[in-house]
Amino acid sequence: MSRQDQLSMHIHFPKETRAGDARVAVVPDAVKRLVKLGASVSVETGAGEALRVPDSEFEAAGASLTDDTAAPDGRADLVVRLNKPAVADVAKLSSGSVHISFTDPFNDAELTRSFAEQNVSSVSMEMIPRTTLAQKMDAMSSQANLAGYAAVVLAAERLDRILPMMMTPAGTIQPARVFVMGVGVAGLQAIATARRLGARVEAFDTRPAVEEQVRSLGARFVRVDLGETGETAQGYARELTDEQLAKQREVMAAKCAESDIVIAAAQVFGRKAPILVTSEMIRRMRPGSIVVDLSVDSGGNVEGIVADEETIVEGVRLVGHRGFSGRVAAHASQMYAANVVNFVEHFWDREANRLRLDLEDEIVRGCLVTHGGRIVHERFRE
Ligand code: NAD
Repeated sequence: MSRQDQLSMHIHFPKETRAGDARVAVVPDAVKRLVKLGASVSVETGAGEALRVPDSEFEAAGASLTDDTAAPDGRADLVVRLNKPAVADVAKLSSGSVHISFTDPFNDAELTRSFAEQNVSSVSMEMIPRTTLAQKMDAMSSQANLAGYAAVVLAAERLDRILPMMMTPAGTIQPARVFVMGVGVAGLQAIATARRLGARVEAFDTRPAVEEQVRSLGARFVRVDLGETGETAQGYARELTDEQLAKQREVMAAKCAESDIVIAAAQVFGRKAPILVTSEMIRRMRPGSIVVDLSVDSGGNVEGIVADEETIVEGVRLVGHRGFSGRVAAHASQMYAANVVNFVEHFWDREANRLRLDLEDEIVRGCLVTHGGRIVHERFRE
């Protein structure tokens, strides 16, 4: 390593290890951008294998290669992953370094503690605030957007009907009916994709602000009078009361019964997802129809859904795959890597030639979970 490299901030990308997930945290373009910024970059051998990106492309972009999960000299100032590391991997990080990845902080307290004990400043990509300034770093949104697309494409493939209306000499085929529950980033893209394929789309969300967005995509918004619902300052939904949920399910049951495809993408940030499709509702659906649950990671919207599996219940196919953005892994990786590089660029101190996380900054306050040997994020201190 040259002296210049030793002086500059060193950023390392270990190979992703989560089985069944083809996404990677680094693409050659991300390496180029970081090198241009003034960082030295290393990539674990085979980091791009799942996407057929050869090591030589990372080298050509300016990265050094290492066979080790850790950086070449065992020291990296910043380590970037996509999926959360194992606790054992945290022990390999240098004290005082920064780690960026999804970390599942609401469920994995042990991992959070291990970052603090190792004196690593851990940035959790789940916690990037929903502000205009942070949009370019928002990996939850970039992945949800692709998940919404991939869910509809999979459902269309599984359905033994077509989505668009078709007028042929043999007769007219009516468009398929798609119902989307939960119109956040994933739900909106599911609506847009189903509309592009020609389906007749209806949607529901507890946040009234969504109605206009649904209509602008050429879909119909289903109104349910639930009384007070509202959203948080971050634009997230509030949890419904049991009475509100019961009322919502009544309307949802009728909509599900007349739909060919149901996409369930309703979540309440930091909490278990609400059950919106009950077994009773599934019994009322037409055999052959499809329900895709995009909330399986946070418990699922569909009663009886099995994570990572497709099951047939009363003739209805329940799709419980997790990590839908992984079905379009090349674009998911490209977007994730861009989100991370945008974060690093935003907080890059050009004089010191390194990443500087200002603890007073609103974005940093939102996503920095551990720092200085402590859990600094107020939501995870307990
Ligand atoms: P999410 O994944 O937390 O939830 C998905 C959707 O489920 C939300 O729209 C929520 O209202 C809905 N939901 C919750 N309970 C429900 C129920 N019982 N029935 C039906 N729907 C229910 O949300 P998200 O996709 O992460 O986005 C949340 C909001 O944040 C959206 O308004 C989005 O546009 C906004 N956002 C803003 C920015 C930004 O300004 N930078 C970035 C990303 C997202």
